[in-house]
Amino acid sequence: MDSNTSIKRLTTLKIIGRLLGFLKPYKFLVVLAILLLFFSTGLALATPALTKTAIDNFILGKNIALLPKVAMLLLVISLAESVLSSLLRILTEYISQNTVHQLRKTLYEHINNLSIGFFDWTKTGDLMSRITADSHAVGQLYGFGAVNILVNFLTLIGIFIVVTIWEPRLGLLYLALIPFVVIAMRAYAFKVRPLWRKNRQTNGEITSIMQETITSMRIIKLFGTEKEELLRFSTKNREVCDLLISSSKVSSYWQPYIGFLTSTASALVLLIGGSLVIKEQLTLGTLIAFTSYLGLLARPIRQSGFLIGMIQSSAVAGERIFEILDTTSNVKEKEGALDVPDVAGKLTFENVSFAYPKSAMIVKDISLEILPRERVALVGPTGAGKSTLISLIPRFYDPTSGRILLDGVDIKEYKLKSLRAKIGFVLQETFLFDGSIRDNIAYGKPDASLDEIREAAKAAEIDDFIMTLPQGYDSPIGERGVRLSGGQKQRIAIARVILVNPPILILDEPTANIDAGTEAKMEKALLNVTNSRTTIVIAHRLWAIQNAGRIAVLEKGQLTQVGTHTELLALGGFYKEAYLEQSLQAKEVAQ
Ligand code: ADP
Repeated sequence: MDSNTSIKRLTTLKIIGRLLGFLKPYKFLVVLAILLLFFSTGLALATPALTKTAIDNFILGKNIALLPKVAMLLLVISLAESVLSSLLRILTEYISQNTVHQLRKTLYEHINNLSIGFFDWTKTGDLMSRITADSHAVGQLYGFGAVNILVNFLTLIGIFIVVTIWEPRLGLLYLALIPFVVIAMRAYAFKVRPLWRKNRQTNGEITSIMQETITSMRIIKLFGTEKEELLRFSTKNREVCDLLISSSKVSSYWQPYIGFLTSTASALVLLIGGSLVIKEQLTLGTLIAFTSYLGLLARPIRQSGFLIGMIQSSAVAGERIFEILDTTSNVKEKEGALDVPDVAGKLTFENVSFAYPKSAMIVKDISLEILPRERVALVGPTGAGKSTLISLIPRFYDPTSGRILLDGVDIKEYKLKSLRAKIGFVLQETFLFDGSIRDNIAYGKPDASLDEIREAAKAAEIDDFIMTLPQGYDSPIGERGVRLSGGQKQRIAIARVILVNPPILILDEPTANIDAGTEAKMEKALLNVTNSRTTIVIAHRLWAIQNAGRIAVLEKGQLTQVGTHTELLALGGFYKEAYLEQSLQAKEVAQ
């Protein structure tokens, strides 16, 4: 995770408090739900009280005339309670689903706004599991969890009040039970929380492994490592299984303990309450009502184990969600940042140095001025820092020291979105989205007309090919669509850039993965796209070098040579050697 992540563990209460904060937009509905809950619990508690009156006043008082009325009242109460409970269930489901929806949206939005550095250190699968599984776990708290916790709490308090009014000694007996329940609850929560945390973590790891293996299936098959991957997966899968068994073991101690506690309470009530009835200090109706209350209590007490588990699981899931929400972007937009005006495209590096978090300096003290419409080739050995250097231009990362200027203005003065809109990228790997060819070309300018799209595709030397497809520009790309070659994908990426028409263009070895047959087309497309803009091209191939105005040589993060092809050949060094080697190879291929 990013260096700015707050790693400190939050307490369960704090996390729950923060999670409940997401209910704010529904505060009126929450109040309505609480009112419904109050009434339905009140009605549930009224039944034994009514039974008490029926026994003491009407049955023992032999008042047969009023009995049907009491029975009727009992029916009405039970009906009203059912209706209120159903309404409550619908309302809480509405609140809970909407809150989870909002939480997921906030999380996804936040992730989208984090700087690239965050993604260097975070596993995709783990992130996906936080967005899906963890948000789902939190949803339980908003719906079922919150309602049951409140109902149980109200039931506990309500019974205590009613019973104490009737007979304070029964109230005391009731109170005496509470410490046993609380101690057991705490012990249970203490045992269960680490298990749930580990469980959620391991679930994240499983998703990561699945994501890695599914996206790297070709490599796995080529190296024949299916067995090893399966082993990696099953180890984690087994861990989750063991963790779940361990948590049920803990809850299996809870159930008998609570069962024993409630049976003891019933025996005590029979013993103490029964003798009070015999001594005529307590009415039979009260004893029977109290026994019914104990029956009502058994459910919340038994359920509390499950609810504690659920709260712990939601708290751990919440913690994983807040870990991301508390991560701030390393690349921040300045307050009052400006839109980039129409620029000529002069790029200036002023003593730029950069190190990744916890790494040594990768780019060291680079000073270079690239003029508008100039084409500069960046060459150097693998690992010299070329990709790193160009990733500083759209501010994927910010220089550790030094500045980058666009037409003389520090790029940090500009809005990130506006800055990035001025920079076109064509990388070695082109990512195409599910959708039609047309959508993919218009990705950066969704309102472009078909004519504009075709113009761009023509300049990218891909229009001919698209027109041979039965559905033309509407042909779908992706799993069920047209399969494109590496070169075709690259040319679609070039068309995408041409359509947006940015003043600056960055090419990262765009011809590296292309076979010789399509290279000529690709080179023509590249010439078209680079013609009228400032271009930096990371290049190994002769093409880019021959067409570049100047060549900059980067070695071990430092600019060692900058000059034209002829100048660098005269100077000797890395460039001359690399050039001669490539020319030799080219000749060998030609022969
Ligand atoms: P080049 O493009 O010249 O091959 P790179 O810029 O890709 O070089 O890499 C330069 C160095 O930076 C390498 O040592 C590489 O391991 C390191 N590096 C690249 N990306 C990251 C990253 N996201 N986090 C940490 N180190 C990185």
